[in-house]
Amino acid sequence: GTAAVSMAVSLAACGKAGDDKKGSADSGSKTKIGLLLPENKTARYETLDKPLFIEAVKKDCADCEVVYNNAAGDVGQQKQQFEQQIADGIKVIAISSVDAEKSAAWVADAHKKGVKVVAYDRAIVGADAYVSHDNEKIGKLQGQAVLDALGSKAAGSNLVMINGDEKDPNAGLFKKGAHEALDGKIKIAYEASGEWDPKIAGEKMTAAISSVGKGKIDAVYSANDGMAGGIITSLSNAGIKDIPVGGQDAELPGIQRIIAGTQTFTIYKSPKQLAPTAAQFAVNLLQGKDIGASGKTDGVPSTLLEPTVVNKDNIESTVVKDGIYQASAICVKD
Ligand code: BGC
Repeated sequence: GTAAVSMAVSLAACGKAGDDKKGSADSGSKTKIGLLLPENKTARYETLDKPLFIEAVKKDCADCEVVYNNAAGDVGQQKQQFEQQIADGIKVIAISSVDAEKSAAWVADAHKKGVKVVAYDRAIVGADAYVSHDNEKIGKLQGQAVLDALGSKAAGSNLVMINGDEKDPNAGLFKKGAHEALDGKIKIAYEASGEWDPKIAGEKMTAAISSVGKGKIDAVYSANDGMAGGIITSLSNAGIKDIPVGGQDAELPGIQRIIAGTQTFTIYKSPKQLAPTAAQFAVNLLQGKDIGASGKTDGVPSTLLEPTVVNKDNIESTVVKDGIYQASAICVKD
């Protein structure tokens, strides 16, 4: 009916990559804060992190505005964006780095120029502040959720693991935590990196199916929902149905797949906490105030937020209750 059509239209609009110039329009005399996000194959950055960070900065600092760039997964591009922001006189940059090791050197360089850096979700050695979650714990929750979904069948089951891009320190932590939960409890029949790319993850899944055998795969661990999308397409193309598949991010398509039954769980990391915390750190650094972090991670003042496992039973009490998605938006079918 018409309601479904207009909902589909509004969903399509909120899934579009944002206009890069939005954040920097109307510059005038406002003080700029940089936001550099790593890639745009994972939906969260353009649809949640970016708008929520911009909104929070506006709330905390009426005279501030955000200059936003997305590196599209390219470390060279992110370096250029970082350097350009410094050249433009920006004094605080929040960055989710494409390559943590490389960006540690950029941070050292920024400090020489009096620029402060907030590590956004992905840690950077030597950053001025860091906001994220206990990422090893996220991996453990994911691994445990796979086991829970299999129940008593776990012991004799074959699992395929598709991990994230190892240039991102979070990917290593998710993988480590997942292995802590899974090792010895299930057979890891195939393991590969999906590089935070749904297409590559799907290709790795297809390779796993040929290697392990179509009828022998009992569950799939995907480090995030974006990759789970590619993986589930690959499974469905091979005629494999009804096996547990889990991801992370509580992306709208992931939540919709959980309702449809093709994905089993995701990990919800509230962007309504992460983005405003990062914005607050950035504004405090800009204004020379206390950062307001709750602890330290590897010497960097940090706040680590709580992740939640989401499956079909608690979608309502998590992402819907928090106002991340409206129930009506989740229920739209292609
Ligand atoms: C983030 C995940 C995200 C992944 C891919 C990780 O660092 O924590 O939420 O899915 O990067 O961008």
